Amino acid sequence: MVSASDTRRAFVGGRILTMDPRRPEAAVLVVADGRIAAVGAADLVDAYPGIAVEHLGTRTLLPGFIDAHNHLSIAALHPLWADLSGVASLEALQAALAQQAAREPEAAWVRGVNWSETTAGLIPDRFQLDALGLARPVIVAHFSLHQCVVSSHGLDLLGIGRHTPDPPGGTIVRDAQGVPTGVLIERAWSAAHARSLAAYQNPDRWAEHIAARARILLGDGITCVHDAACAPSAEAVYRTMAAAHALPISVLMMPHAEALLTPPPAERLDGPPTGEGDEVLRVGPLKLFADGGIAPAIDATAAGQRLTMGVCFDDLATHLDQAVGRGFRIAVHAMGNVGLAASLAAFAHAARRHPTAGHRFRVEHATLAAPDQIRTMAALDVVAVVQPGFVNHMGQLVEHLRFDDATWMPFGDLARAGVRLAASSDDPCAMHAPLRTAVHGATRRTGSGHVLDGAQALPYGEWLRAYTAGAAYAGGQESERGMLRAGLRADLVVLDGVLDPATPPQVLQTWVAGQRVYDRRQNLATTAPAVDAS
Ligand SMILES: [Zn+2]
Repeated sequence: MVSASDTRRAFVGGRILTMDPRRPEAAVLVVADGRIAAVGAADLVDAYPGIAVEHLGTRTLLPGFIDAHNHLSIAALHPLWADLSGVASLEALQAALAQQAAREPEAAWVRGVNWSETTAGLIPDRFQLDALGLARPVIVAHFSLHQCVVSSHGLDLLGIGRHTPDPPGGTIVRDAQGVPTGVLIERAWSAAHARSLAAYQNPDRWAEHIAARARILLGDGITCVHDAACAPSAEAVYRTMAAAHALPISVLMMPHAEALLTPPPAERLDGPPTGEGDEVLRVGPLKLFADGGIAPAIDATAAGQRLTMGVCFDDLATHLDQAVGRGFRIAVHAMGNVGLAASLAAFAHAARRHPTAGHRFRVEHATLAAPDQIRTMAALDVVAVVQPGFVNHMGQLVEHLRFDDATWMPFGDLARAGVRLAASSDDPCAMHAPLRTAVHGATRRTGSGHVLDGAQALPYGEWLRAYTAGAAYAGGQESERGMLRAGLRADLVVLDGVLDPATPPQVLQTWVAGQRVYDRRQNLATTAPAVDAS
């Protein structure tokens, strides 16, 4: 363990962007005992005779990035499974799964992840998985983590047959004869996900994978994540890691059920509420779902034609009210405008019932919103936790579907209405590097190269603000991180290059609590020990 106590250091020259509206730029930043000691003009350094000096030269110093919606505990396990992201045919899918089965002969399930029907041109069915002839169940998880396909053996283990009713908020896809095809959507996939994941949740092994994934994030300048669906088992692993000083980055845990997308277990509401913990590991808002992810709830008109689709979960308001009453802040996944409407109604209801609680409600995604909904978000002081990187893959899917009465990823409209923005990735469901996702938020360029509604673009620098001060506010962390201000934690990132989306900058160094933990020239992140909270 490295002690953060005896290092004092001054960063001078270059650009120091504080994200602090009181002093947006500074010439000197002084770090002592793992915290920011002072921020000021060039002569500030004279007050610290003999201090070690880091000359920034042409570089830019910022607060460390906070990814306000990252599934670190799930993403950490992804290297264990067959990566299907580049698979473009059924034959390639079957080859990848056969390879996975050979790689893990003892695994209870053969698991593939990151499936995309856009890349592959198809959604497989259970018979195509059965054709592998494996003695074990097979699951192919969609990149969204809202849908999967399982083999017949898998359906049997899950107790799903032709007479199994769809669970509320989920769909068991069936053929014309009513026989399940193996495709499970939204809350029909939750149990399949949890079941096939369980064998991988050995705490020691899981902790190693979380630490390894965290070091990759450090290399992209991320010094804190909000784990946006933190199962009780994941909370336990994080607590063990933090107690052993083995957590390389800070984590804000957003409590969620073991089965993704499902309501919180009653006993978790009796557990530690939002805010419990310290700067390294803290309980964040409780995570609830208003609508689907692969099936977002939408009701909008395009060229005069009404389109309705998707899944809305009707238990949101009840759980939200209960959790607020137990001292939790709330983050609600809402992708479609119907999901957003349900979230805003539930927020307004809870705010009336619990008028003295400090709510700071969050909407995760807000990928489709009407103008009046954006005004309501501003009026309720709802934080929009958005994903600029979604413009790449989701933008490509929706670029030819323009609605008359609602806007896709309305980043510009949200900002102009005064809604606070927090930026995030949704890793592993989308690209994670802030300097890369911010390019899509600034250019609105989709994966196919088109510009999706350029009026919704925000400047590159605004995205970096949303990844620092904005994300800290979303997490209730503004008194510990997100700005360069005296007293805050010295989590820092040094960038090479200018803040221009045409030639985006690169992370040169990442500092955690005053310790350099990543340097692109030395790749310290692979060897750096975890840093203490003190
Ligand atoms: Zn997510």
